[in-house]
Amino acid sequence: MKRDYYEVLGVGKDASPEEIKKAYRTLARKYHPDVNKEPDAEEKFKEVKEAYDVLSDPQRKAQYDRFGHQDPNQGFGGFGGFDTSGMGGFGDIFDMFFGGGSSRRNPNAPRKGADLQFSLQVSFLEAVFGKEADIEIPKEAECNTCHGSGAKPGSGVETCKTCQGTGQQEVVANTPFGRIVNRRICQTCDGKGKVIKEKCPSCRGTGRVKVRRKIHLNIPAGVDDGAQLRVAGEGEPGINGGPPGDLYVILRVKAHEFFEREGNDIYCEVPITFAQAALGDEIEVPTVDGRVKLKIPAGTQTETFFRLRGKGVPYLRGSGRGDQHVKVRVVTPTKLTERQKELLREFAGLSGDVPMGIPAEDESFFEKMKRAFRGE
Ligand SMILES: [Zn+2]
Ligand SMILES: [Zn+2]
Repeated sequence: MKRDYYEVLGVGKDASPEEIKKAYRTLARKYHPDVNKEPDAEEKFKEVKEAYDVLSDPQRKAQYDRFGHQDPNQGFGGFGGFDTSGMGGFGDIFDMFFGGGSSRRNPNAPRKGADLQFSLQVSFLEAVFGKEADIEIPKEAECNTCHGSGAKPGSGVETCKTCQGTGQQEVVANTPFGRIVNRRICQTCDGKGKVIKEKCPSCRGTGRVKVRRKIHLNIPAGVDDGAQLRVAGEGEPGINGGPPGDLYVILRVKAHEFFEREGNDIYCEVPITFAQAALGDEIEVPTVDGRVKLKIPAGTQTETFFRLRGKGVPYLRGSGRGDQHVKVRVVTPTKLTERQKELLREFAGLSGDVPMGIPAEDESFFEKMKRAFRGE
């Protein structure tokens, strides 16, 4: 069931032409598909436009006032209106209200070139200490043969006859607002205003060729996996004299077989013997700077962490470095000789069957275990 046109525009039956026009402009702006992304905006826009097309035409308005939607002569099928179908159905809302020619549609306006992304794998240590690297990226560059014009050298370029070099075609529509001139991209020259007589053989008329470009990178110390380095101006070349895009190098840091990284700290695990843990010792531990000595105090439990200050990853901003955390793992001996077993049995005889080394504050632990044995 079609809605009443006055209701659609939200005006009374006695509304003046100015009121109708005002209501229409407000609603058309609200529902124009360029502005309103709701799914039913297009339908509403059409409904508003249809209501206005009828109510703004004195003859059709009079007919509608007498017969309503029933009048067979209305023929709502195909309004000429100012629908600039060259732009894709609805026309551009700026063209619609401000007479077209908005620069954002100008195909000859300078535009920034596209940004490029490149992924670079670096080793764990390269990420810690930084690295200078030369990379080669595939990208587009201006064709050397035609210097970007796309025309075969000597053949030249001529002004497009359809648009006289403006790149735009004018479409004149008679609308209720009066005569509206809309512009659309010239279809002969695709908006360039120029037509190539003979295409450049090197780039097949595109004006661009694929090249591999060498870029020197300075990877700072402390970068982490996923870090992005921006190289300004090394993206695709600009269009119509616009600036080039940027290159983003995304760093992928390979895992290390011994070190693990968390932020600016480095973690590793070192095995020690039962005797070293019980009696204490000084051991050597690898760091990213080389080996360092680490004192294991007597009575060290397995999975205890020791901190090596300043042996971590440098901070990207500011100075200083993170720490290295060494986890010691006490390894239970296997494949014991008879003599070793004998000594251990003697040791066990001296120590009893209660593990030594549970801290005094954990005495309640045995109480908890006893209760568990009793099934509590
Ligand atoms: Zn070329
Ligand atoms: Zn043209």
